Amino acid sequence: MAYSYEAPVSQSLFDRASVVTPGGVNSPVRAFRAVGGTPRFMVSGTGPYLTDADGREYVDLVCSWGPMILGHSHPEVIAAVQEAVSRGTSFGTPGVGEVALAEEIVARIEPVEQVRLVSSGTEATMSAIRLARGFTGRAKVVKFAGCYHGHVDALLAAAGSGLATFGLPDTPGVTGATAGDTVVLPYNDLDAVRAAFAAHPGEIACVITEASPGNMGVVPPAEGFNAGLKELCAADGALYISDEVMTGFRTSKAGWYGIDGVRPDLMTFGKVMGGGFPAAAFGGRADVMAHLAPAGPVYQAGTLSGNPVATAAGLAQLRLLDDAAYAKIDAVSAELRSLVGDAFTKEGVAHTVSSASNMFSVFFTDRPVRNYDDAKKQEAFRFTAFFHSMLEQGVYLPPSAFESWFVSTAHDERAVERIAAALPAAARAASEATA
Ligand code: PLP
Repeated sequence: MAYSYEAPVSQSLFDRASVVTPGGVNSPVRAFRAVGGTPRFMVSGTGPYLTDADGREYVDLVCSWGPMILGHSHPEVIAAVQEAVSRGTSFGTPGVGEVALAEEIVARIEPVEQVRLVSSGTEATMSAIRLARGFTGRAKVVKFAGCYHGHVDALLAAAGSGLATFGLPDTPGVTGATAGDTVVLPYNDLDAVRAAFAAHPGEIACVITEASPGNMGVVPPAEGFNAGLKELCAADGALYISDEVMTGFRTSKAGWYGIDGVRPDLMTFGKVMGGGFPAAAFGGRADVMAHLAPAGPVYQAGTLSGNPVATAAGLAQLRLLDDAAYAKIDAVSAELRSLVGDAFTKEGVAHTVSSASNMFSVFFTDRPVRNYDDAKKQEAFRFTAFFHSMLEQGVYLPPSAFESWFVSTAHDERAVERIAAALPAAARAASEATA
């Protein structure tokens, strides 16, 4: 599909990038492969807006895939970063900021008795799984199709996110031996989980699930699903790992745990807790965490873990996320969901606006979406037309029909009005799109 509007500076940057970087990007879903066209190279961000290298401003509904929950360049986060940088950027020793950030996480999320800081969500889930295997002495890991937990070898089986976007069921480079201990089940299907425990009694180290999935589009857990997982795990002696890298500190002050109250054995975090810097974490039951080096035998480490600049940014961001901040984000999200739904209804486009707290996405189908198979049945070609119309009108959406949209406290009336103004033409483009 050809697009009438141009982005010459982004195009020339992309051409240069494509020479020195595979596919021109450092993370696949940034590449626009699912929607076509030239990825926008952003040069600055302020509040709810991003500005690209061609000087065009966009209302940002990606928020760096979740972290920028206060909008871009929040003055208090920037000040905390500047203050931290002025004291040095990495010490390779324990530091003050990492204690304060760990205390903040433990204070907010009751099941987290101890926490270990790492640098990415991938590292958090990889380490949590190693710990679960080390703690239980078991090998098998249960995950759900469409749930993405980072690019951990053992978890790149039927994963969502970029893999959903590209329709890759698997990836070369992950050996049969690595993936062989991974059991992939349909999401929201407790009978399948029961059958897996019956087929592998005493062999499953853990069940890992996105607390509320956002990587196949937003597909919340059915009533009782997470509680059922916890119960089945407990009955068999397996650990229940709730991946809150996306939902943590976003869907409520205590993440998805703050909404469903189901107590995981281990939890993983990232995105919001880093304030836009590489900081992530895993934590949970003290008796399980006690197995982690140097307290215990399960090895895990990181040169930049607990980095002083990243922890300063994360802490500043978390401290600003009070009840009023969540109320604001929830309200903006509700307003946008209703505007988006109305625009599609008006154009007669079959759609479902699916939400989990303030996370939401659109499926181009009016049939219920409860798992990855349902999500894949949508008319994703309509998203392509919708996405490009929104982009042309200055609204930056995730470049894939299988990703959550994110809002921030900075999305004010003006930003919402700009989105509202763009929606009618974009919904029309979706309605006129052909496969
Ligand atoms: N887990 C979930 C639920 C995620 O959404 C992501 C990233 O999108 C990850 C883990 C991996 O995090 P990172 O990209 O920081 O490695």
